[in-house]
Amino acid sequence: MGNPRIFIVEDERRIARFLQIELEHEGYATAVEDNGLRAFERIAQEDYDLILLDIMLPDMDGMTICRKVREISDVPIIMLTARDDVEDKVNGLDLGADDYMTKPFAIQELLARVRNALRKPRADGREVSPEGEKLQVRDLVMYPSRYEVRVGNEEVQLTKKEYSLLEYLLRNKRNVLTRDQILQEVWGYDYTGDTNVVDVYIRYLRAKIDDHFGEKYIYTIRGVGYAIKD
Ligand code: CA
Repeated sequence: MGNPRIFIVEDERRIARFLQIELEHEGYATAVEDNGLRAFERIAQEDYDLILLDIMLPDMDGMTICRKVREISDVPIIMLTARDDVEDKVNGLDLGADDYMTKPFAIQELLARVRNALRKPRADGREVSPEGEKLQVRDLVMYPSRYEVRVGNEEVQLTKKEYSLLEYLLRNKRNVLTRDQILQEVWGYDYTGDTNVVDVYIRYLRAKIDDHFGEKYIYTIRGVGYAIKD
């Protein structure tokens, strides 16, 4: 079985490109389409493992595409909705979408939802993602499929942001990550707030993990950024 194929249906070129780069970096194969009608035709003819579907598209909107795809396929669909458009989310889920993301989104959260959607059992019995993935540094273990973090036998309760930050560190363990990289990946490509937010969240994580368990996991690389190490 090859890499999961993800179809990015998005007419904003900047976002489509960003998604493509990030998904390919994670090892997925991607295809991109900016026209709604062509997107539907391609979904009907080609074989994808997951569809990222924008709503406002030329020639056929994402809601219509979702409804029509559901008549022919159970391929997982994640809708990409505009900010705070609650009605779109509800409609999208009613029409059979598996999940939705509100733009602008942080890439780590999107990747988590992609992994989750790929685990959905398919009618054809195909499974594209290994069960029980485990990210580990010594006694610190994260199970992304269960959204769970443990140190030894004790479960660590993290907020969504803390979890995303820890997951990013664990997926790049031993690499030094700069504040800018962390901001871009965990807070999103158009985050405009204070870069101190990274230091603040590193502090939260250390309080809950390093300090609480009396063992050092998260290292500060002075003048550069942070790393998690064995
Ligand atoms: Ca659009």
